[in-house]
Amino acid sequence: MKLPIADAATTWAYTRALLRANRREFLLIATLTMLSSLAGLVGPWLLGRLVDDARAGTTAGHVRDLVLVAVVAILARGVVQKIAQQRAMVFGESVFAAMREEFLDTVTALPLSTVERAGTGDLVARTTNDVAKIQNAVRFGVPQLTVSVVTILLTVVACLVMAPLVAVAMFVGMPLLLTVVRWYLRRAPDAYQAESATYASLNGTVTESVEGVRAVDALDLGGRRNDRSDADIAAAYTAEMRTLGLRTVLFPGVDLTFVIAPVAVLVWGGFLASQGTVTMGAVTALVMYTFQLTGPVWNLVFWLDEMSVAAVSLARIIGVRLVPTDRAASGATPAEDGGMEARGVRYAYREGHDVLHGIDLDLRPGERLAIVGPSGAGKSTFGRMLAGIHPPTGGSVTVGGVPLVDLPLEELRRRVALVTQEHHVFVGTVADNLRLADVGASDERLRDALAAVDALTWVDDLEQGIETEVGSGGVTLTPAQAQQVALARLVLLDPDVLVLDEATSLLDPRAARHLERSLAAVLHGRTVVAIAHRLHTAHDADRVAVVEDGRITELGAHDDLVAAGGSYAALWHSWQHE
Ligand code: ADP
Repeated sequence: MKLPIADAATTWAYTRALLRANRREFLLIATLTMLSSLAGLVGPWLLGRLVDDARAGTTAGHVRDLVLVAVVAILARGVVQKIAQQRAMVFGESVFAAMREEFLDTVTALPLSTVERAGTGDLVARTTNDVAKIQNAVRFGVPQLTVSVVTILLTVVACLVMAPLVAVAMFVGMPLLLTVVRWYLRRAPDAYQAESATYASLNGTVTESVEGVRAVDALDLGGRRNDRSDADIAAAYTAEMRTLGLRTVLFPGVDLTFVIAPVAVLVWGGFLASQGTVTMGAVTALVMYTFQLTGPVWNLVFWLDEMSVAAVSLARIIGVRLVPTDRAASGATPAEDGGMEARGVRYAYREGHDVLHGIDLDLRPGERLAIVGPSGAGKSTFGRMLAGIHPPTGGSVTVGGVPLVDLPLEELRRRVALVTQEHHVFVGTVADNLRLADVGASDERLRDALAAVDALTWVDDLEQGIETEVGSGGVTLTPAQAQQVALARLVLLDPDVLVLDEATSLLDPRAARHLERSLAAVLHGRTVVAIAHRLHTAHDADRVAVVEDGRITELGAHDDLVAAGGSYAALWHSWQHE
């Protein structure tokens, strides 16, 4: 399942809104361009006059005057063009910056379940390849298209005004040009879309191979992963060849019209001049104008091509905005001191394959509950339901009487947070990493949070304490240290309910137990759900829930469960003898 792609109408509406939001700047650029194009028309016109005047007999003074006017026009054009280009660049940059920020907001707010299902490759391709592809179109394309269109229109109008009969010949290449360009633009979007898609899967394959390198090594999957990359590369190659094929028709076709047009104007104009219908000067000017059109027309075709590529990328980027949210805040406010209740919770990753079969559980405010059970039983899945990461596919998890997924995300995070074994150290200082949870936290609070997870000692031993740069390019934290940082973030976040999914698994058992105890002291009064494979966590908890095959099979205090002699008792005894 891929992320959605916006249709043409949506993409176009988005582009129009973007331009409308920047209308004034856009009009200013168009006006400046118009002035510079007008100045550009002066040269050929003067040359035409010079030809006519020379034939009629003229003075050196008159020629000098005309040359002077031409120089002034060229200088004026240079100045106006510089200003227009500067404005256009600033315009392109600010529009692109705004788009990028908006895109980032969209991506970070995507429902996790959708991202997981679509695979990260698609999203990575959209945030890298596609953004890169629209970048030039927005930065240069919009300004360049404006310049080309304005210049072409003004030049054609000037020709029609000056000598309409001769100007007709300018359009002789048009049928060819239009045919080729239409042929191309009809095929281009699909071809480029296919090309982008092949890169998305190539990206996915490479990313997965790299991220799963241990599994690939262990299972000796190297050959298969290579074959898959080769197949992806072959597909990308085919797609590239197809778009290249399109361009090999476009480019010569357009070039040919540039050869035909001035020749036609010269021959037709020459004939008319010989008949005395027009002056040689007018023909000279029009041939020059026709030559001058080459640049803007090429620019137009080039940017239309780039724009059709960019439009595909834009559709993919806007598509990310179309991902339906997996929840909608209902506006209901939970009772402040209400506990958490799971009722008949079911979940299926794939339709028809429930991994949770209707779990009921009441969490008492302030209690510490351990969840244990065999691997694959559904503990993590249930933990994600308790943290409101996914809406359950059946039943509900409520806090203070309101389903978790009916809460606005901010409110949800204040209520309940999840820490898993997967942790990420962000590039920045230790303090930056912690302040993600609480932007305004004082250094003192950060240190308290680190102390609560037994991390203050090693952080203070770092060269610059909490101001030490960590993550890629900085000090590399051990997985256990990264886990502690993640837990310290949770302490700062201070939600009512904490779900810890093997959150101390990377620490050695003794350190883990010590950490859990100091954490418990800090989190006094908070509800803690700890999914654990080390049974000391269960031993220290108020209650233990045993999950087997998507159901809670035993629930009670450690001593009671051991006395009852069920699965937990068996687990406990075998763990003790490990
Ligand atoms: P536990 O935490 O008890 O080991 P999990 O909740 O991780 O169990 O997994 C429960 C079941 O759901 C397993 O059969 C597992 O294969 C399946 N499962 C877990 N995550 C996914 C996923 N992202 N997509 C499909 N199936 C999954």
